[in-house]
Amino acid sequence: MPELPEVETTVRGLSEVLMGEKIIDVKLYRTSLRRPIPSDIQERLVGSTIVSLSRRAKYGIIVNDRDDALIFHLGMSGRWKINPENFEKHDHFVLKTKNNRVVSLCDPRRFGSLDLVEKSQLSEWPYFKKLGAEPLTENFSPEYLQKKLFSSPTPIKKALLDQKIVAGVGNIYACEALYQAKIHPHRAGKNLTLTEITALVFAVKDILQKAIAEGGSTLKDYARPNGELGYFSTKFKVYGKEGEACKCGCTIERVSLGGRSTFFCSSCQK
Ligand SMILES: [Zn+2]
Repeated sequence: MPELPEVETTVRGLSEVLMGEKIIDVKLYRTSLRRPIPSDIQERLVGSTIVSLSRRAKYGIIVNDRDDALIFHLGMSGRWKINPENFEKHDHFVLKTKNNRVVSLCDPRRFGSLDLVEKSQLSEWPYFKKLGAEPLTENFSPEYLQKKLFSSPTPIKKALLDQKIVAGVGNIYACEALYQAKIHPHRAGKNLTLTEITALVFAVKDILQKAIAEGGSTLKDYARPNGELGYFSTKFKVYGKEGEACKCGCTIERVSLGGRSTFFCSSCQK
C-alpha cells in the first residue's frame, strides 16, 4: 500500500512532467473508484494549465489556473504512469498535455479516489477538514503532540495512526518511528515524557524524510517510457521482521494492536 513517502515521491515525479503544462485531453474509463469520480472532470480540466502540485496526508493535489484542485488517493494499489507505451485495463484516467506528455492513473483494486474541489474550499473538504498536523511541517512539534496525548490512555502506536493527531503516518512508519525512538507501542500516550515525545517526533520526521529521499533517488527512472510512480523498496528495521533478530540480539515480536500488525523489540523499546 502506498504510504506518505510514496505519495510525496509520486507528487514530485508528476510535478516534473505536469507543472505549467496545458491539459488538452482527459480520458475517463470508469465513473467511480472508491467513490464516484466527478462527472464534469473533463470539462473542468481540459483547456486549463496546471499551476501547482502538492500533497496533504496521503492525498496528491493538482491545481489548475481555474482554481480547480484535482485530488487523488492511491488507495491500496494505485500508481501513476508517465508516458506509458501502452495502456492496460486498469488505466482508469488518462491526461494529455499540449507538449505531448501523458500520465495515467492505474488502480487495479480501485480503492483509490479522484475528486475535484475548488482550491478555496480545500481546507473545508470533508476528507481534509479533520486532519491533524502534517508530520513534516513545524506544526507537528513535541509540544503539539504532548497536547494531543495529554490524558490519553490510548496506546501510543494507535495514537500515531489517528489521522486527527498526525496526518498520513501509516502502520509501517508508526512501527519504525517507535522503534527508533525506543518507545514500546503499548505505552499510553499520557505516560510519555516530553523527552520521549521529542524523540518520537524527531523519529517520525527522520524516517519519513529518509524514505522520501530514497524514493527521490529512484525518480530518474521515471523519465523512461512506462515509468511508474508509486512504489519503492525501503529497508525496514522492524516492520515485517517478526522472528528475526534485532540488532540487540533479541527477537522482533509482532502483536495486533487496534487491528493492525505491530512489530517491535521488547528489549529496545520500553
Ligand atoms: Zn532490540
